[in-house]
Amino acid sequence: MSLTDRSATDLIAALRNGEITAVACTEAFLTRIEATNPTLNAFLSVNGEGALAEAARIDAARAAGKPLGPLAGLPVAVKDVLCTTDQPTTCASKMLRGFRPPYDADVVRRLREADAVLIGKTNMDEFAMGGSNENSAYGLVRNPWDLDRAPGGSSGGSAAAIAADMAPLAIGSDTGGSIRQPAGLCGITGLKPTYGRVSRRGLVAFSSSLDQIGPMARSAADCSLLLQAIAGHDPGDSTSLAVAVPNYTAELDKPLNGLRIGRVAAHFGPGLDPEVAEHVEATFTAYEAAGATIHEVELPHAAHGVPTYYLIAPSEASSNLARYDGAHYGHRWDGSRPPDDGGMADFDSPLVEMYCRSRAEGFGPEVKRRIMLGTYALSAGYYEAYYAKALRVRRLIRQDFLDAFEQVDLIGGPVSATPAFKLGEKTENPVAMYLVDLYTVGTNLAGIGGISFPCGFTAGGLPVGFQLQGPALSEPLLLRAAHQYQQTTDWHHRRTAALPA
Ligand code: GLN
Repeated sequence: MSLTDRSATDLIAALRNGEITAVACTEAFLTRIEATNPTLNAFLSVNGEGALAEAARIDAARAAGKPLGPLAGLPVAVKDVLCTTDQPTTCASKMLRGFRPPYDADVVRRLREADAVLIGKTNMDEFAMGGSNENSAYGLVRNPWDLDRAPGGSSGGSAAAIAADMAPLAIGSDTGGSIRQPAGLCGITGLKPTYGRVSRRGLVAFSSSLDQIGPMARSAADCSLLLQAIAGHDPGDSTSLAVAVPNYTAELDKPLNGLRIGRVAAHFGPGLDPEVAEHVEATFTAYEAAGATIHEVELPHAAHGVPTYYLIAPSEASSNLARYDGAHYGHRWDGSRPPDDGGMADFDSPLVEMYCRSRAEGFGPEVKRRIMLGTYALSAGYYEAYYAKALRVRRLIRQDFLDAFEQVDLIGGPVSATPAFKLGEKTENPVAMYLVDLYTVGTNLAGIGGISFPCGFTAGGLPVGFQLQGPALSEPLLLRAAHQYQQTTDWHHRRTAALPA
């Protein structure tokens, strides 16, 4: 077994007992990145020198018997939407090309405190808007299981990096499914924590009432190590929860006897790929065999999830992205007017022209679409009909989950209706791309937790994901339920053959 094949849990043990050094571990992953990144484009920047220097510091500290953090010497990849002082932070946008933040995100600070080795920044959909990673200004990401398919998004780089053994752990962010959906399509495990469990300070804002950072790894056990390092109250994020962080690994091995899992009949409607349905149903059966009981529950407003999300998220985005005006933040127009002006002619003032041209050049088409949708939904005369109404429906969607969790402990089901789709298949049709989020947006609208993990493969060799959703702060149970499943299945151990060994 090569070093990069090993789990994070296993590597940490090997680092601790001196079987391997942090430098050797970091070198192994850097070599793997060098071999596979030209094909996958999962990393936007690789922190080779910095990572090796950090690894050497950790080896020296260990040799000197100094106390070290829980992730000491382990490489971690970070989605390029988190601020890092020592690496660029672009959000996969031209708007932030070359941007070096003046401070670290709280999650990055905690990772450094845990003595993790920050190995690089992963590709994503621009400003985390998308479900395929095709909206990156720096090129798409390929799915390691089939290079002609999308890895999902927006944390597609992080998901592909884990699936291709380019890093043992990765950070993602999830506003409407961006951790769970790419995890499902790439055959890895990803957790969206409860809103507020992880600080958003230094996470470049997309939709502030929905955004949440979470762990991505091969297994639930590995995810629990990463969540342990990043969770906790931060006075720098007023929405972060001032609630003690439990020990996420302590109860992983507790059996599932008596666990009540909900099944939603409406999840199995038309549009669900038959192979996905088959593996998801088999997962319910596996949970029954493990001592859980399955109960039919209803989420009556779930069908309104996608339209509600696509009003709230763009509304917040249009406000959050107003700061990129070429003056306060972001790319600035250089003053040269192109011969074909694309319809831009009359400006009220040179300042307005600078704003408009800077934004027109800096943002990609999907980000512009979201800004327009959101600006429209918030505008006088439409606010009540769209934005305010969406907030009311959001409340109903949340209430559905609260009611369901009176009857069951967790809700199971598919993550995505289909396995990974072909690159280019949905790029011309935004609504088709938005519908990919059918099963994931409810978790964010309700502010609760959700985990996605592999539950089988299609005949064509593509991974299929299973999602468990749980009440606020149910992360220990979500991780345990996924871990228990992974004790009796080997889907998460399978490696792709589509890449060089
Ligand atoms: N696919 C969804 C969107 O495009 C979710 C994105 C996310 O969770 N960041 O908005």
